[in-house]
Amino acid sequence: QNGSIRGRRQPNILVTGTPGTGKTTTSSALAEATQLRHICVGDLVKEKNLHDGWDSEFECYLINEDLVCDELEDLMEGGGNIVDYHGCDFFPERWFDRVVVLQTDNSVLYDRLSRRGYTGSKLTNNIECEIFQVLLQEAKESYPEDIVVALKSDTIEDITRNVESLTDWVRSWHPAS
Ligand code: ADP
Ligand code: MN
Repeated sequence: QNGSIRGRRQPNILVTGTPGTGKTTTSSALAEATQLRHICVGDLVKEKNLHDGWDSEFECYLINEDLVCDELEDLMEGGGNIVDYHGCDFFPERWFDRVVVLQTDNSVLYDRLSRRGYTGSKLTNNIECEIFQVLLQEAKESYPEDIVVALKSDTIEDITRNVESLTDWVRSWHPAS
């Protein structure tokens, strides 16, 4: 019997971090290695219109957190998801078995975001977000400390190593009894 009594049979993982730290690259490689489902929240928000319009100051959609959580609830209850988003405080705490915060050296991140076309305040806001470890703080405030892990994501080798260690973690995960 699955569901309310036994709980999920596969873990849910949240991959978070400042834009450009490698969430989508890492999540898709991890999904391929584990056969878990990669949910890119930014894409989902656009596809299903889970937003309240475009924020011209921050140049991004104003995500509607309630709509996103409603949309994901059934999938999350079933388990086996990798959720990829640059925020983490509005998801229910009970959804996740592991919260991964990717971190990148400032100068490396600056180059990545510039290459992505970020300029001006959009670029500096994101660099400051990384310098002040905003996502790591947010994760620590929102989830139990023992499920939050910060991983360095400066190089391709870091991605390979992170995907390997997370794959090992998924394989050894067992539902709580
Ligand atoms: P995010 O989803 O966190 O915004 P992406 O996965 O889209 O980040 O990565 C942004 C860009 O940086 C991509 O071009 C990607 O190939 C590159 N990148 C991300 N992480 C790394 C890394 N650890 N080493 C080298 N390049 C990376
Ligand atoms: Mn992404």
